[in-house]
Amino acid sequence: MNKHNDREWQYTWAAHDAVDERHHGSIQIPIYQTSLFAFESYDKFKQAANNAQTHHVYSRGNNPTVRYLEDKLAELENAEMAKCFASGMAAITAAILSVVKAGDHIVCMDQAYGPTREFVTHYLKRFGIETSLVDGRSPDNIRSAVRPETKLIYLESPTSMMFQLQDLAACAELARSRGIITIIDNSWATPIFQRPLEMGIDLVVHSITKYISGQSDSVAGVVLGSERLVSRIAEDEYMLFGGIMTAHTAAQVTRCMRTLPLRMERHERSALSVAEHLISQPYVLRINHPALSSHPQYELSLKQMKGSSGLFSFECGESPEKMRQWANRLNLFKIGVSWGGFESLVTVNPAITGCVGEARSLIRLHIGLESAGDLIRDLDQAWATVTADDK
Ligand SMILES: *Cc1c(COP(=O)(O)O)cnc(C)c1O
Repeated sequence: MNKHNDREWQYTWAAHDAVDERHHGSIQIPIYQTSLFAFESYDKFKQAANNAQTHHVYSRGNNPTVRYLEDKLAELENAEMAKCFASGMAAITAAILSVVKAGDHIVCMDQAYGPTREFVTHYLKRFGIETSLVDGRSPDNIRSAVRPETKLIYLESPTSMMFQLQDLAACAELARSRGIITIIDNSWATPIFQRPLEMGIDLVVHSITKYISGQSDSVAGVVLGSERLVSRIAEDEYMLFGGIMTAHTAAQVTRCMRTLPLRMERHERSALSVAEHLISQPYVLRINHPALSSHPQYELSLKQMKGSSGLFSFECGESPEKMRQWANRLNLFKIGVSWGGFESLVTVNPAITGCVGEARSLIRLHIGLESAGDLIRDLDQAWATVTADDK
């Protein structure tokens, strides 16, 4: 059995570190609040400067507090190397730019995170890079979109509005047979529930802002993969664009990481309770949650994920205006973007054209760490209140 799938191993990963004499046995990693590292002799300086990845020379390259978090996250994701960035988008754009050059072609999921799609379809066009957006639910769609000049397949599974999956093993096999690099945004599942590198995906990116932080107090990102691919990103995109994670953010995220397995278990259980309650509600047409047996890709979700997190959506026959009135009546769910934190959130959007039949709105819920029973009562009272208002 792969130890990474063992929840007990994950708990010990989160809580345990060997005593490090360099830090006087400090139980938390100290915050190295320094821009540069000085040397006693020119020989030592030169030796470090020649191996800036393994030594500490300058904090835009390698800071010990940040490195500590990178090593911990690499261990959890079963990656050789990790590099932490100032945001999820800094990590995503660095990873993409490490793969493509003028004249290349990208295949990207049509339901990928909005700013990621904006980057590949519009921004990269200025540099002579073409992108095809595809519905990745079928590997055949991805295969048909591949061209001789395709250098990157960009995945996000599940996607974060419609919760569509891609078959990661099939995508990895297709890409490897054509010499194409694969990147996946794994923010929804986290390494607790899905480890794409073990399925042959080349690079994993996370918005740490979401579950890995989990406290809605940091914006951060990470790229993980083989030493060959990630050290190239560390030398080029990390050093040249300078979108670094600070030592303070690394220390803050390290604190949050200690409870990641605990929190994910709780998000999973509560979100399933709320989703199961919603199935029978009159305003719900369809629930988009990969761990419900009604999800069209339920079998695939069981095959490639070990669990599910707290973010899902449902489709609704009511108008967005009416559902916004409903959202206004919620007491425990707050209206806001982002997700992955301790707090429950709601957004109401018009239904995505082409994705749904009779639905008029798409409601996304993030289930936080509150009592699931309280959240269910809150959803019910808000619906009772808006329907009473109608009469
Ligand atoms: C939020 C988010 C990002 C971007 O992360 P930031 O930390 O906000 O830059 C990327 N992918 C997904 C799926 C996200 O939800």
